[in-house]
Amino acid sequence: MEPEATKKLRHSQKYPLMNKRFTKNDAGFTCQHCGRYVPPLLSSSRDHCTTCLYSLHVDINPGDRANTCHGLLVPIGITLNSKKGTIIHYHCDTCGAYHNNKAAPDDDFDAIIELSRNPLQYLYNVKSNDD
Ligand SMILES: [Zn+2]
Ligand SMILES: [Zn+2]
Repeated sequence: MEPEATKKLRHSQKYPLMNKRFTKNDAGFTCQHCGRYVPPLLSSSRDHCTTCLYSLHVDINPGDRANTCHGLLVPIGITLNSKKGTIIHYHCDTCGAYHNNKAAPDDDFDAIIELSRNPLQYLYNVKSNDD
């Protein structure tokens, strides 16, 4: 019998890409902006509030929770990606970094529409700073 930790380590060595780029971390949380409880998103990782769309600066790669900033990510705009669907662009209130999240199917539609009114020029600036 080998200890559980050794097995896990082996698994992560066997599938390094899977663990590096995307960690499924689907948990409910209370929004730090509007105070509502956001239930887990069953199909993927829940990473932002469905009501006000605010998020927290906790990930480096999606779902890894490896970022120590923990600042409030303020939604600043929306772009449409042919592969990924609706992308929400964020600006971190604490460290000033730009971040993207995929919109969830149960996000508040009015909030998405409201964000999509932001000038495109602004979004292009965001995109160039994002990588
Ligand atoms: Zn909220
Ligand atoms: Zn930050």
